[in-house]
Amino acid sequence: MSYDAIIIGAGMSGLAAGIRLAMYGKKVVVLEKHTISGGLNSYYQRRIPSTKEIFQFDVGLHALTNFAKKGEKRKPLTKLLRQLRIGYDELELCEQTFSQIHFKSAKLNFSNDFELLQSEVKSIFPEEFDNFQKLYQYILEFNEVNLNADYLSAKKVLESYIATPLLREMLIAPLLIYGSAWENDMDFSQFVIMFKALYLEGFSRPRGGVRTILSLLENKFKEVGGELRYRSSVESIEYNESGVSGVVLKNGEKLESKKVFSSAGLPETMDMCQKDKRSIIGKLSFTETILVFDKKIKHSENEPTIIFYNDSDQYNYQRAQNFYDASSAVICFPDNYESQNKDGHGVARLTFMAHFDQWNNLEKPDYLTKKNEVLSESKRILKNLNVEQSEIYSDVFTPTTIKRYTNHFDGTVYGSTTKYRDGQTKIDGLYIIGTDQGFLGIVGSMLSGISISNLYGLME
Ligand SMILES: Cc1cc2nc3c(=O)[nH]c(=O)nc-3n(C[C@H](O)[C@H](O)[C@H](O)COP(=O)(O)OP(=O)(O)OC[C@H]3O[C@@H](n4cnc5c(N)ncnc54)[C@H](O)[C@@H]3O)c2cc1C
Repeated sequence: MSYDAIIIGAGMSGLAAGIRLAMYGKKVVVLEKHTISGGLNSYYQRRIPSTKEIFQFDVGLHALTNFAKKGEKRKPLTKLLRQLRIGYDELELCEQTFSQIHFKSAKLNFSNDFELLQSEVKSIFPEEFDNFQKLYQYILEFNEVNLNADYLSAKKVLESYIATPLLREMLIAPLLIYGSAWENDMDFSQFVIMFKALYLEGFSRPRGGVRTILSLLENKFKEVGGELRYRSSVESIEYNESGVSGVVLKNGEKLESKKVFSSAGLPETMDMCQKDKRSIIGKLSFTETILVFDKKIKHSENEPTIIFYNDSDQYNYQRAQNFYDASSAVICFPDNYESQNKDGHGVARLTFMAHFDQWNNLEKPDYLTKKNEVLSESKRILKNLNVEQSEIYSDVFTPTTIKRYTNHFDGTVYGSTTKYRDGQTKIDGLYIIGTDQGFLGIVGSMLSGISISNLYGLME
């Protein structure tokens, strides 16, 4: 079988790329290893033993970053929906109430209105307010999408504007954990992308969770004539001196194309080409705890949507030394998005940084014991935040779960520290889309799929 383009992976970037190509009449197939789409941001369901109810869980989706109001111009979300010809209202977005950066000595709230963060900085760090405003101006003027820009340390730039270490650490923490493949620092271009995505635009969540996004993408892809094949694991990518020629599936089937767009990750794609991959595997993976309570969570003060929690004044963003690191966490209360149903069960989700090898080396009984430890630590942190409710269900997934369901080596979530910003590999016709092209998260990976397929699938 021969195609104009083959796409590896039905995650956010693969589906978005597929829509663009099929929309312009290309014969395109998306090949997905699993039985459902979504990749790192998929879904599953479980029966709650005590109530016999079937509960729908999102794998990721704490927040859809880059919130934009309907019709708001020049915003990534608006551009994305226009490119995919998906209506804004179809997403049924619920905005965050507010989120909080919660360090030992200070808390900073932010929302979808940047003025909240500005007023928080003004009242908590008054001596830094002018510096913060200057940094903000510099961010607005910076060209973060220059594909040829050299690496610039975000921490160094922050130091040149903000004198107080605590404020620097607080500002960078959410941006690191929501989008850096690098430990303890990030490229300033990526910092600017994330600053805008989190602080200037903000968070929302489709009322129906990640399934809403995925079913919109799947339906659109089929509507424009694309072919989506599940249980189709690509074993190898075929190429010669003149470039890529197609792929071979695990069952031996050969598919031909002179263009292959891979969202599997850079080291994973190189592995499919029998090229060396070890040096470029990223280090950052996570555990995720999901707790379901018998009723909606009662917060003592107010109702934050996401808390970026850190139990000291210095933030360590790095692979955990020992299985998991409970000294910091991202805590999401999905019920605290506006217009969510205020009756029924309450849900909390907590993410810890983790260490893939340690989880991977455990035998089953020890693995379960460690998962229980993660659960206890998650509850301890919630208790510190005065969230104590009657739990009816809990689940913990680990870096090895992420590896099993997404095929990412070492369960990496933000991919390799080597990014192919222009999408091109050394093999003609083989392109990287999604996380390892350099744009992370749900919105980022869809934009990556769109821009790289536009560039090499439609313009060439
Ligand atoms: C726990 C967790 C929470 C998250 N929370 C958020 C959040 O709140 N907000 C946010 O914006 N982002 C979040 N993310 C990140 C976000 O999910 C990812 O950045 C994004 O989904 C990446 O999409 P992608 O298309 O680049 O890659 P992937 O999702 O990794 O898609 C790659 C696809 O390729 C398939 N594949 C791999 N190898 C093969 C092969 N050989 N053959 C066929 N198919 C193959 C995989 O099965 C997968 O479906 C979270 C991630 C995790 C794990």
